[in-house]
Amino acid sequence: MAQITPCILLTFDDYHIDNWHAFLPVLEKYDAKVTFYLNNLDKLTDEQITKAEQLMAAGQTIGCHGWRHVWPVQYTEENGVEKFWEDEVKPCIDWYDAHGWDITNYAYAFNNYDEKTNARLFDRFDRFRAGSAKTDRTVMGSFEHLFLDLDDLPNQRMMPGMHLDTIARSEPKPEIPLDLWQQILTRLADNGQHMTFYGHNISATDKQGHVTNPAYLEEVLKLAKQMHVACVGMDDLPEVAR
Ligand SMILES: [Zn+2]
Repeated sequence: MAQITPCILLTFDDYHIDNWHAFLPVLEKYDAKVTFYLNNLDKLTDEQITKAEQLMAAGQTIGCHGWRHVWPVQYTEENGVEKFWEDEVKPCIDWYDAHGWDITNYAYAFNNYDEKTNARLFDRFDRFRAGSAKTDRTVMGSFEHLFLDLDDLPNQRMMPGMHLDTIARSEPKPEIPLDLWQQILTRLADNGQHMTFYGHNISATDKQGHVTNPAYLEEVLKLAKQMHVACVGMDDLPEVAR
């Protein structure tokens, strides 16, 4: 994409392909593209592989979230970075190759990484979704460092994100209020910027773990569309400068 407009990058992690796929009609209703970082690829059923391929065919981004979701830094400290690569990254690449998937974006499990993991993975993957400190999501101050300029995108390979889930086992509550979303989207549009967010499951019935409520997510998508802030996937961004 040569021209990119003010945007949000909504990303979703782990292994919730069925619920992600079920949400596709809502994404399409608002012309929204997002990124799904998938792990445990070998446990996908044929039907789930088809669903992931349908998401990609619809222009959604699928990214890599490791093979078994180990803690990257600890695993590297204990076993060396080559072992981390062999056990956690290479099986994914082999699987993509076998299935003809073109995957160029990565999200470290637990948003956990260091210089060694980056040095090993930066050649193979373009962009890396990262986390941000656990913080109060109801005040603008917590978001200041996440407003990034569109012009700098070719040099932005690490994309820090704010936690998006409405139910969270280990992150701050409450969720980002809609009036704060409005302020964030206004600033993004006015200043030519982008911001990244990360959630997990998309479900109205799952009350455990890390879950974004689909009705809440639809409100966010609706607001972004009204305010002319695009919702784009990692594959839609300008190429990184290497
Ligand atoms: Zn994860």
